[in-house]
Amino acid sequence: MITGRTRTFALLGHPVAHSRSPELHNVWFAEHNVDARYVALDVDPARADQVVAALRTLPLAGVNLTIPFKEAVVPALDAVEGFAAQVGAVNTVVREGDRLIGHNTDGLGFLAGLRAEFGDRVTGARVLVLGAGGAGLGVGAACASAGARSVTWLNRDVTRAQAACDRTTTHWPGVAVDAGALDAAAFAARAAEVDLVIAATSGGAADTLASFDVDLLRPDAVWCDLNYWMSAPPSLARLRARGVAVQSGMPMLVYQAAEAFRLFTGLTVDAAGALRRMV
Ligand code: NAP
Repeated sequence: MITGRTRTFALLGHPVAHSRSPELHNVWFAEHNVDARYVALDVDPARADQVVAALRTLPLAGVNLTIPFKEAVVPALDAVEGFAAQVGAVNTVVREGDRLIGHNTDGLGFLAGLRAEFGDRVTGARVLVLGAGGAGLGVGAACASAGARSVTWLNRDVTRAQAACDRTTTHWPGVAVDAGALDAAAFAARAAEVDLVIAATSGGAADTLASFDVDLLRPDAVWCDLNYWMSAPPSLARLRARGVAVQSGMPMLVYQAAEAFRLFTGLTVDAAGALRRMV
């Protein structure tokens, strides 16, 4: 029952209608008898510079942020913790008294979801990230932080791929980095040498990714496509025929949400159980 004491948590982004975060958090609130609700709020991207000011006015108990607010909120927060500061992107904001503290659970969520299904596929791995937006930067940097041997970003706008390399070199100088264009030739030049491919572009790049020759990948490689909402991710059938292990973005979604829930409430949830419910 919603009462005058019920706390409200929210996902802020644009678009958010496809998000399954409310489903996760509301089940966990119910399971743990937390008097709270979690809603998805579609926020006009043109108001990105007002999001943190709104949080100081409205009594939302905590929020998650998605496209296009993860980077825009950083300067207005009171503090930005650990990995969020290293990658310059926040996906979780927690209230500590009057202060708004930014965290990033995407990297940890990606690593935990991958480990849950495949064990450690990151230590010493050569990682190829397709896309260098917020998600691509975050998961590539998470791999660097977890001991990857090298991380390469291919992106339509190569300057963003180079920026991901520069940031990684600043924080994890032992990891070899490389940047290139998001095209079939750049993929082909690197495919045979990679252990882990992470497709982190948004839906508009699907045709570009479908043009990549995935038969050049080693059959023992792993391919993760973060777009859990896509019914038919690019190259899925060809990857399977090649023997490449494929993971959707659902484990990342569930494990990053579980860590956000822990930051919101102090409670640890059964992420593996939630993942079984979601797929
Ligand atoms: P973003 O910051 O907007 O970045 C979008 C990325 O897609 C950029 O690399 C962009 O390249 C590329 N792109 C977009 N349209 C393209 C096109 N037509 N051709 C080639 N490249 C194109 O978004 P994001 O936060 O990184 O999110 C990316 C995707 O990951 C989203 O679809 C999101 O749903 C998913 N995601 C999933 C999870 C999860 O938990 N599973 C978490 C976060 C994100 P340019 O830089 O050249 O524009």
